[in-house]
Amino acid sequence: MKDFEYFAPKTVEEALSLLSQHREEAKMIAGGQSMLVTMRQGLLAPENLIDIKGISALDYINFNEKEGLRIGALTTHRAIEKSPIIQKHYEVLSEMEVNLATIQTRNWGTIGGNLCHGDPAGDPAPVLITLNAMLKVNRVGQERIVAMENFSKDFLEVDLGPDEMLTEIQVPIPKPHTGCAHEKLMQMQGDSGIIGNAVSITLNPTNGVCEEARIVLSNVSSVPFRARKAESRLIGKVLNDDLLAEAGQAASEEPDPNSDMHATAEYRREMVKVFVRRTAKRALERAKRGLIS
Ligand SMILES: Cc1cc2nc3c(=O)[nH]c(=O)nc-3n(C[C@H](O)[C@H](O)[C@H](O)COP(=O)(O)OP(=O)(O)OC[C@H]3O[C@@H](n4cnc5c(N)ncnc54)[C@H](O)[C@@H]3O)c2cc1C
Repeated sequence: MKDFEYFAPKTVEEALSLLSQHREEAKMIAGGQSMLVTMRQGLLAPENLIDIKGISALDYINFNEKEGLRIGALTTHRAIEKSPIIQKHYEVLSEMEVNLATIQTRNWGTIGGNLCHGDPAGDPAPVLITLNAMLKVNRVGQERIVAMENFSKDFLEVDLGPDEMLTEIQVPIPKPHTGCAHEKLMQMQGDSGIIGNAVSITLNPTNGVCEEARIVLSNVSSVPFRARKAESRLIGKVLNDDLLAEAGQAASEEPDPNSDMHATAEYRREMVKVFVRRTAKRALERAKRGLIS
């Protein structure tokens, strides 16, 4: 690994100032779980490493009934999994975290690092897209909000300038009668998903018609993939098993996945078909119970 200058800012302002000073020659490190692998593989060799893990002001989970959920970028996966607020109001986020890696990894890895790494196999992004989440991004003296759905640009590439950092994940209150679920295909519990998917379904409580649906797939494209044709099979209908199977079929035909050592493209498509049907069924059951997650 190439030598680098190491900085350990204790505030967001300090971190942003270092970023603006060093720009392209600097990279941030949070938990380091992806960053160190990338550096060891020689894919990145920053001259300056800005270690933000000590910025305690970015480690929080807040919730109120009006604005919804706010998660600081340095919150660990384990804190999200175990948060009583999240388990109560956004059960799907906690459910997703249980299947993300091992407890050791979840204890140290951060939600911000996961999203900024931009791995299309990542689990949080599809769930956050179905929940219509927004991301707060800061640079010195400026702040902007970007939809999670637009954040991933390409394989390991996200919408962040060299002087910008992600500071907060904002999740609105889901509409009433919305159900959301996440599942992924793993060889062993906690493995990276061969494919994954998150589904949200919103029902009209008077006639049971599906008013909104979001289906987002992981590891079938260079970015999280929104299966819009599959969504359109559900919207405006009273859902049953046949329609869920139709949505699964449509979702399997939309992306163009790669073959690799874990699975062929054909197998990935087949699994998308099965998993979308299955996950949509769980999302529908939750929507029927009037739960918001
Ligand atoms: C063994 C193992 C198994 C894993 N399994 C899974 C899995 O099943 N599913 C899954 O989704 N993930 C998995 N991961 C990834 C893990 O979840 C971490 O979340 C992820 O590696 C990044 O978190 P980190 O805090 O370590 O980020 P780092 O590695 O420190 O950073 C990752 C990238 O994000 C940038 N960055 C970090 N924080 C910020 C910020 N606030 N603003 C701007 N840029 C930032 C860094 O510069 C770097 O480019 C696994 C990791 C390991 C090591």
